[in-house]
Amino acid sequence: MKLNDYLTGILEEKKEQGLLRSLRRVETPQDTHIVIEGRKLVNFSSNNYLGLCNDPRLKQAAIEALKKFGTSTASSRLISGTFSLHQKLEEKIAEFKKTKSALVFNSGYSANLGIISSLAQSEAIIFSDRLNHASIVDAIILSQAKFLRYNHNDTEHLESLLDKYSDTEQKFIITDTIFSMDGDKAELKKIVKLAKDYNAYIFVDEAHATGVFGPGGSGLVEEFGLCEEIDIQMGTLSKALGSFGAFVCGSKALTDYLVNTSRAFIYTTSLPPAVLAASIKAIEIIKEEPQRRSKLWENIEFMRGNIVGMGLDCLNSSSAIIPIMLGDNNLTMEFSKRLFESGIFIQGIRPPTVGQGKARLRITLTATHTKDDLSRALDAIKINAKELGLIN
Ligand SMILES: *Cc1c(COP(=O)(O)O)cnc(C)c1O
Repeated sequence: MKLNDYLTGILEEKKEQGLLRSLRRVETPQDTHIVIEGRKLVNFSSNNYLGLCNDPRLKQAAIEALKKFGTSTASSRLISGTFSLHQKLEEKIAEFKKTKSALVFNSGYSANLGIISSLAQSEAIIFSDRLNHASIVDAIILSQAKFLRYNHNDTEHLESLLDKYSDTEQKFIITDTIFSMDGDKAELKKIVKLAKDYNAYIFVDEAHATGVFGPGGSGLVEEFGLCEEIDIQMGTLSKALGSFGAFVCGSKALTDYLVNTSRAFIYTTSLPPAVLAASIKAIEIIKEEPQRRSKLWENIEFMRGNIVGMGLDCLNSSSAIIPIMLGDNNLTMEFSKRLFESGIFIQGIRPPTVGQGKARLRITLTATHTKDDLSRALDAIKINAKELGLIN
């Protein structure tokens, strides 16, 4: 069979199952109000939680760094690609996260790949929450360690697995702190206790918690007061921080080890100056402007309360991510399309991003949504949920 015929066949199949995906063209900066292919929308589908992606101060910092240091480092970190900005950002992150050391990676995806695969040896066992991010799944496969999934947030199941494999020397428990599709929190305190009882290391992914949780905005680990207990923390600079890239933080031995062994850190060009400067500025703003986080939390509580009040199912979401569970793929995409046509952008999420029968609308909120933006969305959700027979 010709390659094109083979590929077209697979695409046709996806279309029949309501699973075909395509790209949308955004014609404005990422912000609360955007234009997609000519249509003006209130945006509930970005990870721009604090509204920083289009902030003039981040842009200015990026422009200055670009002028001073150019467009690219044109080198990997270990050759000639470690600039003062990389070190400054790493110092800022370590201070922000209250850890001894931090190391920057080029994206959250490559950080997970590079950290997990270099730490876990093939004799290790990794206990991973079933709903962990795809990059964690890929990282574990790459590590060649034994891969055990425990049911989502089910610490009893986790304990039974830890117990079964208690003789194994190297054990890692890996969890997102905020789950990217359900928007709920990991049972971090219980996981820390289990890790102690069973001598396991803990790796957490703070992608959706960084900038959103904790008194200083550094994440859920800070909120739970567990900075000392977690061995390896990863977070992204690409969501609430409005920039790009990711980091790992923990002990100095951890970051030195990764500099020496992590292939996703070593064999790639380092992040460019403009991106680093924007990240540094974002961390400063997060410290200086806690009101952004309070506004975001006000929006989260208002929105979630109203949606649950309509009789729709938002799972246990307790973050800026609010799912509206629908189940059926085509129903989900129809709902999303109707909202889009009424000026509200809420992405529909289907398998394989979520499990079979778990299709949903996925709302993400930002600090920059106004009450008017939220009310418009709520009205549109209510009208369409009624028309689609989901509520009375
Ligand atoms: C977004 C995300 C990543 C990937 O981060 P990028 O910087 O976008 O590559 C990793 N883990 C989780 C939980 C995420 O939500």
